[in-house]
Amino acid sequence: MKTVSAFFIILLSIISGQVHGQFVCNTITTTSSLKSSSFIDVTNYIPNDSTPVKYIRVNIHYMLRSPSDPLYPGNFTPTGDGLGNNYNGYQFAEDLINTANYRLSLNDPMRLPPGNSTPVLSRRYFYILNGVFFHEDSNYYYYPAQPDLKYRENNGEAVNVYITILRNSNEGGGGYAVLSGIRFVVLCGIWERYRSNIQDKGLWVAAHALNHEIGHNLSLLHTVLTWDGKCSDFVDDYCTDTPTRIEIRENFNIEACCGWNCSTGSNNMMDYSGEEAITPQQLGRVHWTLANEMKSYLWCEFVNYNININIFNANKSYIGRNVNFSNTTPIIINNNKALFINAEEVTINGPIEIWPGSLMIIGLAPNKSDFSTEG
Ligand SMILES: [Zn+2]
Repeated sequence: MKTVSAFFIILLSIISGQVHGQFVCNTITTTSSLKSSSFIDVTNYIPNDSTPVKYIRVNIHYMLRSPSDPLYPGNFTPTGDGLGNNYNGYQFAEDLINTANYRLSLNDPMRLPPGNSTPVLSRRYFYILNGVFFHEDSNYYYYPAQPDLKYRENNGEAVNVYITILRNSNEGGGGYAVLSGIRFVVLCGIWERYRSNIQDKGLWVAAHALNHEIGHNLSLLHTVLTWDGKCSDFVDDYCTDTPTRIEIRENFNIEACCGWNCSTGSNNMMDYSGEEAITPQQLGRVHWTLANEMKSYLWCEFVNYNININIFNANKSYIGRNVNFSNTTPIIINNNKALFINAEEVTINGPIEIWPGSLMIIGLAPNKSDFSTEG
């Protein structure tokens, strides 16, 4: 296995003004061959019906204003939506992951090239909500904040997703994600979209933004857009089943790069149509990444075998094969805080108090001997 040292960042900005907004994507590329077709053995990782379904741990972080800010909170909180309603950040995180998983459960035929017979495969990967965090820190409130170094949780075991806020909400939204190293995603425009679409909570579009950005975490590149979101004839995503823009124009006289609400252009998840088609080779890259660089992000993989919980005073997510609660100190979960555990086995040795409005969520992963795994 090769190791990854280079650091890629992919930027997504969603320019709105329309009902569903418009994505424009930015990619910082390097001359490295990292992520090239020669680096990733795609064909051996294309999923089929017997490929085990993989679940990726995801932490949702809300970036709030500092309590001293007169406009506090300015985002979801543990008790509400920041707008006076009781629908809170835990519920939105759950709804976001559920909506994203629903979209991942579907796949559409590639629209391009016209008449293609590209197989439409089951993706065979989903997310698990691993933790929810609230950070009251105006220094990291506005996009493009860089909160990961300060606020990351479960380093290298969960994708940390930060929901930041646009300075100008008319811009609609945006985000960026890393293609290598410790995986994280920074999004913006999510709370703003919720605010302006209270009925559907803006979840469908937010789920697409999440799926696209985690797609970058999973080694996927744009197919017809450059790093700075411009349509480009020569973008190479190293997948031969995602046609380039120039191929489509020269052979079919069709503009592949035409954005949202365009029924003739690319409908690929890694373009900015809001649609989510994904090809076999793209899925090969995803499953290669999940079997190699991101194996430790899967909910049945454990870096730590034994974790002891002795104290709880702030939202926390613990990931360990065996998680043990101390018998020396009572654990009190109150003040709308939440304790998340992902383990194969949890042992409770002492008293635990969970107050109304607070949460303790235990996600028990199946023992690996209970099911087949990929090498
Ligand atoms: Zn992107």
